Amino acid sequence: MGALDGRVACITGGTRGIGRATAEAFLREGAKVVVNGRDPEKGAQALAEMNGGDDVFFLAGDVKTREGCEAIVNGTVDHFGKIDILFANAGGASNHAPVADLTDEAMQDSLVWNFWHTFWTMQTALKYMIPQQSGRIITMSSVEGKVGKPGLSIYVAAKHAINGLTKSAAQEVGTLGITVNSVCPGAIETDIMMAEGPAAAASMGLDYEGLLGMFAQESAIKRLNETSDVAEVCVLLASDAGAGITGSMISIDGGTSPY
Ligand code: NAD
Repeated sequence: MGALDGRVACITGGTRGIGRATAEAFLREGAKVVVNGRDPEKGAQALAEMNGGDDVFFLAGDVKTREGCEAIVNGTVDHFGKIDILFANAGGASNHAPVADLTDEAMQDSLVWNFWHTFWTMQTALKYMIPQQSGRIITMSSVEGKVGKPGLSIYVAAKHAINGLTKSAAQEVGTLGITVNSVCPGAIETDIMMAEGPAAAASMGLDYEGLLGMFAQESAIKRLNETSDVAEVCVLLASDAGAGITGSMISIDGGTSPY
């Protein structure tokens, strides 16, 4: 018997990286899972690799629009009949620069990709979870949702905003059987890290290897984390065992953040 038997989960950005690892862990624990991404071809490939049969379904959609976010959550309910777990996972940031040199476009894009997407999917999921008086919402923050980093302010600001939204939502729905928590991973070498890492490193005056080395060195474990580290915490938060955890910003950063 799995920890998530009979549950339906929706994961934004679930075809690769942390979202994909979490989808696989949720499937292993008996959940039915919708994974989202922008590209149907990559979605089909992810489904084939996950080998989850009818228990996993791909929904194409861009989280950078309200319509896209609503369609992902509503589409989960259309396909599997309900939504018990939302993991608002997609996010990232491009065009990093020191605050003095930042463009409005870079800040706006990061806020939409991370914060607004989290708000739009959370609000849509609550439409179902409040009447059913149960649910689990997990938001994707970061160690950068807890500490500042020079050159990364667009990402740091968006991830801090997600933590604020998460704390307030948890206070609002705590008596309704709904928990709302964020996960705050340290650095993990996923596709987005490989794509955006070199530019982020440059805005901090480092090269890519130097950036990864800095992340490892500032942790207690002196190495990067793995996608499975985050996935297993998400299983706990999504399960009955997680009922007493809400409004928490769970660090999965090898001891990097001081809180
Ligand atoms: P990844 O690149 O491995 O996977 C990202 C997934 O999101 C893919 O499935 C991609 O198709 C999808 N995606 C990206 N933009 C999308 C959009 N606009 N609409 C729909 N789907 C979209 O990335 P990852 O490292 O697993 O990152 C996932 C989340 O974890 C992000 O919010 C990121 O900020 C956060 N995070 C990552 C790290 C890290 O070091 N990798 C650390 C802390 C937090």
